[in-house]
Amino acid sequence: MTKRIAIFGSTGSIGTQALQVIAANADKFTAEILTAHTNETLLIKQALQFNPNIVVIADDSKYAKVKEALAGTPIKVFAGEKALEEVAAMNCYDLMLAAIVGYAGLKPTLQALDNGKPVALANKETLVVAGDIVMQKALEKKVPLIPVDSEHSAIFQCLVGEGRNKIEKIILTASGGPFLGKKPNFLVNVKRDHALQHPNWSMGAKISVDSATLMNKGLEMIEAKWLFNLQPDQIQVLVHPQSIIHSLVQFEDGSMKAQMGLPDMKLPIQYALAFPHRIPNDFPRYDFKKPATLTFEDPDMKTFRNLSLAINALYKGGNMPCILNAANEIAVFAFLRNRIGFLDMTDLVERTMDKIQFIANPTLEQYYESDGEARNFAASLIQM
Ligand code: NDP
Repeated sequence: MTKRIAIFGSTGSIGTQALQVIAANADKFTAEILTAHTNETLLIKQALQFNPNIVVIADDSKYAKVKEALAGTPIKVFAGEKALEEVAAMNCYDLMLAAIVGYAGLKPTLQALDNGKPVALANKETLVVAGDIVMQKALEKKVPLIPVDSEHSAIFQCLVGEGRNKIEKIILTASGGPFLGKKPNFLVNVKRDHALQHPNWSMGAKISVDSATLMNKGLEMIEAKWLFNLQPDQIQVLVHPQSIIHSLVQFEDGSMKAQMGLPDMKLPIQYALAFPHRIPNDFPRYDFKKPATLTFEDPDMKTFRNLSLAINALYKGGNMPCILNAANEIAVFAFLRNRIGFLDMTDLVERTMDKIQFIANPTLEQYYESDGEARNFAASLIQM
């Protein structure tokens, strides 16, 4: 029996790597659903190669082109953002790989959980925006949420077999991004192309910028709180520029477990797709002599203030992480279009967090509203 995978965001960095894993393990996995936003050319190519049951193009202006290209095949074509949720509610797949970037991934993921489908979660923003509701849904439906983010996959792997053993703390490692050691007088002149050059990982544009500002690590702290049911003070960040130790768990007896390997997202993707099994692959292995030295240091939160803003949101809770995320998405989008500078992103997030009304226990509707208000306010700051 093959596991039928629904890849939401198949045209992205995670999505394309997941398809490589599926292609290499055709006896174990099939790509049952593929979805894209704007990249219809790649979606069509993927559909012709993997022959899924369904494809969705979220940008409905591209529907005719996809439909025409797949006309001679049995592949069903849907279009529009609503179609993502409708397809997530179907029964033709066994596991969703949630690999859409940003807030747009939230509704289809919630729909998959509501539908009783296990989710391999790459889209961290889903938990940042509405972690309590998403985790509650997974619990209620008794379906696993398997992390794909390398740090969270590491922690998840360290916890296998630990049952109810208590976690004292977790340590999320961070590469430090392309600007490790730099100061504001350097960062003020940083442009998009430089920010997209991550030293260890090849990723989509948004997460690459988030890694450069350290917002990514802040989002991951919030993600970890929900996934592993932790208090904020149980989550520590440690800069580890070689990205070999993907994260650690310290138990209440002081013993620590780490998960290690070369930085390659195909490994946590494969683990999540195959869970609870491990399957062989030919990915390069880490050799302790290259790099021979693993180093660790504290993050520079005075320079990379996005991390402190995210930690504030983590402690504050309620709709604050949702506000942080919305403002950050607007800020990153504007930076990628050269509308604002690197350091302006932090100011924009901070001003939005100060402005939007705090709600301690939001409903899902209130999360949606907070997201919209924060986006509008953050966008208004750019237009000024
Ligand atoms: P990419 O930008 O490379 O890909 C994003 C995917 O989402 C594409 O398929 C894109 O479609 C689709 N998409 C974008 N916006 C929308 C929308 N509004 N509606 C529907 N689909 C949309 O991102 P990554 O693959 O890098 O990241 C995906 C998620 O995984 C993020 O949440 C990220 O934080 C997380 N992650 C990524 C890692 C990585 O190594 N890349 C590592 C750990 C986590 P299209 O291309 O057609 O426009």
